[in-house]
Amino acid sequence: MSEKKYNPYENMLAVLKQSAEALGLAYEDYVTLCYPERELKVSIPIKMDDGSIQVFEGYRVQHSSARGPCKGGIRYHQNANMDEVKALAAWMSFKCAVVNIPYGGAKGGIKVDPSKLSRDELIRLTRRYTTRILPIIGPDKDIPAPDVNTNGEVMAWIMDTYSMFQGHCVPGVVTGKPVEIGGSVGRVEATGRGVTIITYECLKTYGMDKSTAAIAIQGMGNVGGTAAEIFYENGQKVVAVSDYTGGLYSKDGLNIPAIRKFIAAGNTLDQYTEDGVKHITNDELITCKCDVLIPAALENQITEDNADRIQAKLIIEAANGPTTVGADEILNKKNIILCPDILSNAGGVVVSYFEWVQNIQNLTWDLDEVNKMLNKIMLKAYKEVLDLSKEKQVTLRMAAYMVAIRRITTAGKLRGGPISMG
Ligand code: GLU
Repeated sequence: MSEKKYNPYENMLAVLKQSAEALGLAYEDYVTLCYPERELKVSIPIKMDDGSIQVFEGYRVQHSSARGPCKGGIRYHQNANMDEVKALAAWMSFKCAVVNIPYGGAKGGIKVDPSKLSRDELIRLTRRYTTRILPIIGPDKDIPAPDVNTNGEVMAWIMDTYSMFQGHCVPGVVTGKPVEIGGSVGRVEATGRGVTIITYECLKTYGMDKSTAAIAIQGMGNVGGTAAEIFYENGQKVVAVSDYTGGLYSKDGLNIPAIRKFIAAGNTLDQYTEDGVKHITNDELITCKCDVLIPAALENQITEDNADRIQAKLIIEAANGPTTVGADEILNKKNIILCPDILSNAGGVVVSYFEWVQNIQNLTWDLDEVNKMLNKIMLKAYKEVLDLSKEKQVTLRMAAYMVAIRRITTAGKLRGGPISMG
């Protein structure tokens, strides 16, 4: 492990500073982006099934509302903490700006291992958390969505709790809801689908043959699992996948539908067996023999400790913040192309935006329309980032941040600047 403790917020600040300087901005021009607009830490006492009371810690951070209402997911994870949520909120501001949807950025979380709670306990936790953050969320203030270990069902509980307090149904307060209560078709698959759209574009740009490219995916949750399935259906070769218990590798390609079915039945990958399939560790997955590496789990996975050993030629960041700043430098030196999270995984929030637009207008779109618009927005954003990276001779990460920071700081300036009301 690296000597210095990884801090996602410092990681975010380092990239922000570097790209703002590359844009020729002075510190005063982007200083507002170095601080979240609002940080809320809450305590969430709930009655456990055995009658005892446990108090959990929760967060909601709004990084920027310069371009519109704040937007971003809520994660339930035992390691969630304020620095992580602050970084994730900032990444949401940059993500919404790079794909040019009219939102700022936010993120929330609860420090909890949800696998240790019963469903009833989870409902109580979610409802109490919602009441704690209720004053700062709303369809035109801040709109939560699913993230790590949360899903449509959790969004439905949030929507219900919020609506109870308003006295009427407010579907637009969250996105990623079940379709039956105002969710959008295509939202569950949107992040994974977006990852595949970007992967195909990168393969084309960098002259790689998709029919022979070997793809390795870390994480088989909603994002990694959906991407793996789409690649498989399209005839691509997914040679490695993993979950938190470890990974599987087969140089001829894995049977993704069988693996997903196995996981959906409540199993973990360490229990999976199939002829010709080898068990590997998560570190071995990151460094395995492949052409395309897709980290789709958590942050801090590609680090100075393993970047040197990576064999992939192309990395598509499907997780938020999987690569450290130090690892980025190593990858650059090795001429490994990396498409950054704020672009690669933006498909989820793009379809969240469609869901919110449908909710506000009481409309429902069909899947064709959703996927067509998703495709259009992802391709446009990719082209803008690629063009700028060529023009300025910078990496795709730098170019994506430059596009985003330019849009956010321009919005801030047009609104009169941070001290105009002082
Ligand atoms: N949690 C997802 C992300 O990190 C989606 C956020 C949203 O849809 O608001 O992009």
